Amino acid sequence: MAKRKNVNKTKKRIRQIEVILYIVIILAIVAGTYFGIFDDPFGIIKPDKTGTVTELDDGKFQLHMIDVGQADAFLLRIPDGKSVKNILIDAGSPNKTRPDTIPEYLLSLGIKELEMLVLTHPHYDHIGAAQKVIESTNVKSVMIPDCDHSTKTWIKLLEKIDEKNINVIFSEVGKTLAVGDAEMKILAPSDNMLAGKEVNDYSIVAKVTYGETSFMFTGDAESDSEAEIIKAFPASELKCNVLKVGHHGSSTSSSQAFLNAVKPDIALISCGKGNDYGHPHKETMQKLGDMGINIFRTDEMGTVIIVSDGKTVSRLEINK
Ligand SMILES: [Zn+2]
Repeated sequence: MAKRKNVNKTKKRIRQIEVILYIVIILAIVAGTYFGIFDDPFGIIKPDKTGTVTELDDGKFQLHMIDVGQADAFLLRIPDGKSVKNILIDAGSPNKTRPDTIPEYLLSLGIKELEMLVLTHPHYDHIGAAQKVIESTNVKSVMIPDCDHSTKTWIKLLEKIDEKNINVIFSEVGKTLAVGDAEMKILAPSDNMLAGKEVNDYSIVAKVTYGETSFMFTGDAESDSEAEIIKAFPASELKCNVLKVGHHGSSTSSSQAFLNAVKPDIALISCGKGNDYGHPHKETMQKLGDMGINIFRTDEMGTVIIVSDGKTVSRLEINK
């Protein structure tokens, strides 16, 4: 009898050890996944070392405002059935200092192909890293404004695009392109803006619609281009959930009439900490604040990710 008691005791002890071992193994897998040791075996969305997201969040549309300092770079990850199509709007680098930030960001997400690279206008803070992106990623199409510009960086970039045989799409006001499950409509630059001398107003302005949600990208378009957009399109076509604030929040963009037409819930501002231009300007911040718009800015928040399920948009909080 005493022997049997001992056997039962031993069996119980073994079961306890087994349970503890299971718990230790599960904890190790979860910790390993979180810290990037394992390759996310359970499909957990894991923040990597730079705080980015490596998986699409339940197939939702993602907009990444990549922190590139005093420059612009917006990555769109668009669901396409069960896969994803990626668009990069601008590949800026501030003063030749950070040409690798965008290629490294794309690499961290495992992105090897861009459906389209949109270069809003030929200023360095919007195209400075474009050549690196083209060299490190398979870019299927490039969209540019049909402008006359002759800086060395722009010309060299056009030569690179040609050499790589990349399909070139010139922006055309009113044109709509389907990309994955989203749609992109071009709102600017008009022929009038392209005929002028203000390079900022060469900026491609585009509205991207995903389900019932929409996003407007403006490059550095200023109030003259905004005025033409308001004239050409009814406010109902301009209304968006998210507005990329023109020209890094400069007071020369974001006219009250334009903001009234777009009426965004969220404003995105890409600018460098303590930049020489004083962006974003206080006049713009005041207007956005008065309208009760949520403002996200890279100089204070770093990279910001917005997600949409086709009905609502929200900021994706990332654990760093
Ligand atoms: Zn700019």
